[in-house]
Amino acid sequence: MQTVVVNARGVARLRSGHPWIYRSDVISAEGVRPGALVEVKNERGRFLGSAFYSTASEIAVRLVSSAKIDNLADLVRERVRNAVAYRRKVVKDSDAYRIVFSEADELPGLIVDRYNDVLVLEALTQATDAADVKQAAVAELLAEFAPHGIVERAEPRIRQLEQLPPLEDALLHGDKTETVFTMNGVRFHHRALAGQKTGAFLDQRENYAAAAAYAHGEALDVFCYQGGFALHLARVCQRVTGIDSSRPALEQAESNASLNPDLPEIEWIEANAFDLLKDYAAAGRQYDTIVLDPPAFARSRRALQTALRGYKELNLRALKMLRPGGLLVTCSCSFHVAEAEFVEMLASASCDAHRAVRILEKRGQSKDHPVVLAIPETSYLKCLLAVVSN
Ligand code: SAH
Repeated sequence: MQTVVVNARGVARLRSGHPWIYRSDVISAEGVRPGALVEVKNERGRFLGSAFYSTASEIAVRLVSSAKIDNLADLVRERVRNAVAYRRKVVKDSDAYRIVFSEADELPGLIVDRYNDVLVLEALTQATDAADVKQAAVAELLAEFAPHGIVERAEPRIRQLEQLPPLEDALLHGDKTETVFTMNGVRFHHRALAGQKTGAFLDQRENYAAAAAYAHGEALDVFCYQGGFALHLARVCQRVTGIDSSRPALEQAESNASLNPDLPEIEWIEANAFDLLKDYAAAGRQYDTIVLDPPAFARSRRALQTALRGYKELNLRALKMLRPGGLLVTCSCSFHVAEAEFVEMLASASCDAHRAVRILEKRGQSKDHPVVLAIPETSYLKCLLAVVSN
């Protein structure tokens, strides 16, 4: 097996429980092939673990095991099996969830989502793009779920960064690419090979239920995408409006709503959320429930201040529009915005809006997206539930 030698900083990182070693901490990786399974050693030749190597990424080494690996396919199957067993324990009221979450399941670079009888697999690195790794994962998924379709989805930007050849989304198994799944009793479509690439935001599943537990009256779901929050709110609110700038997302939201005929009609508005909130606030509109779930504003730590300004503008407007006793559900999926910074932003917005705000719940991602303590990057979603008391 090929060997990668890492410096003291790389060794310290592995000791802390973090699986990544940056290229700058690699001393030698001579002749190591893209995506190879390698033995990681320190400068004195001591074995530290087995890892996936990338010749393209700044994250050159991703640890897979602290032991030597005789048979990679067996290890992948075992890891998938463990990931499935964990989901069977923690996921409730849903046939849609993340089965494999990369580093959090000790399978760095591999993502698998389940939408009822259709599974969606994504390989994010040179190592997990290799046929033997994918085949092993697929074999175990077939044994566990007997799905009617397994679709491989490609993220062109990530493949480019990993220097992987372009890949078409395609079926790896079976013939089914579209299905209906259920979260918390609400039904949604999933079209794995349709135009819009992203699936549902499974990481918000538990937050949908939490929001619905407090939501009431007139509700606004801002950045509603395919209606995840809006459909849950419709069960308990008198009126629900969903806002998004993407027409295809709203069309899908509408088609999701039609799967739930017992729910009252939802109004879908195609608009820029910043502009619309400004207009609504200026017009003196009032709501009892507002959800803010924007896309990641901070894609790097450098973008933090700009991101916080964006969050504050949205949250300030929302707070001003809430009636006393109104619920704010405010989210950030930027890893680079820490929870404390997000709470501080909301405090500052509440001060500017002259509203007293109580935090009901500080939440994160659903349990099928596990947070590994030693790997801060596995924790990215913040979801605050707050009530405006005056
Ligand atoms: N709340 C959703 C996920 C939101 S993802 C759910 O639970 O499923 C972010 C959404 O913001 C995307 O649908 C994207 O189309 C939308 N978006 C991005 N910028 C926007 C803008 N300026 N105004 C309105 N929507 C925007």
